[in-house]
Amino acid sequence: MSEIIYMQGITKTYHLGKIQVRALRAVDLTVKQGEFVTVMGPSGSGKSTLMNIISCLDTPTSGKYLLEDTDVSRLNDNQLAAIRNKKIGFVFQTFNLLSRSNVYGNVELPLIYSANAANRHSKVLDSIEAVGLSKWIKHKPNELSGGQKQRVAIARALTNDPAIILADEPTGNLDSVTGEEIMAIFQDLNRMGKTILLVTHEMDIALHTQRIVYLRDGKIFKQQQVESPIDAREKLKALPKLEDVS
Ligand code: ADP
Ligand code: MG
Repeated sequence: MSEIIYMQGITKTYHLGKIQVRALRAVDLTVKQGEFVTVMGPSGSGKSTLMNIISCLDTPTSGKYLLEDTDVSRLNDNQLAAIRNKKIGFVFQTFNLLSRSNVYGNVELPLIYSANAANRHSKVLDSIEAVGLSKWIKHKPNELSGGQKQRVAIARALTNDPAIILADEPTGNLDSVTGEEIMAIFQDLNRMGKTILLVTHEMDIALHTQRIVYLRDGKIFKQQQVESPIDAREKLKALPKLEDVS
């Protein structure tokens, strides 16, 4: 496996008036193509800052970051936006769906700004099918459960066929069974080759992934390989069924 993310000595310092906040202090992190990695750590430890840098939403104060061998520090804002749109799919704790658009419209959104309109329709349908929501295509977010909303968000993250999916607390607003269903979808996508980085507070969720990176005070203080990750589909068989996950 080759490295899709290579970070060395990454720092990020925010300036609040006279106060300096050192959000990241010399982070070294590599992620291989096809890995499924969790970032854990207490509030304020730098998880979101790290995700923002990985996704090119923000740039480091110092250090080296290669994303699929591209030296991100050399890119201008337009190039960063382009690389983000092409290579990264985002999933958030609060779903961030457009309430006035139906499932189709939400999933189509990332493609509206991309030139490739030719197979837009089939890409949207494929993404919706990948998360098992084909029957709900015309429904709006307020007609969906929390788990279904997060599945729409995952489908939206997939439409551009990104190499990496970043998920910041994707199960934070969901009950444990629904969280398990979401982890089943992430595991499916990972088996299909997607590299996934997930932020969570819950060890139960982290144990579904292959490696756990622990952040504290802006530094990685421990990394742990998960010996045999929990298989969400296996676990779901033993749990009460809430929704039809196809
Ligand atoms: P986490 O996601 O682990 O809770 P963050 O990455 O959000 O942590 O924050 C790390 C540290 O950086 C915290 O001390 C936070 O207050 C600070 N921080 C984050 N974003 C900003 C910002 N835009 N301006 C100033 N300080 C920030
Ligand atoms: Mg955060």
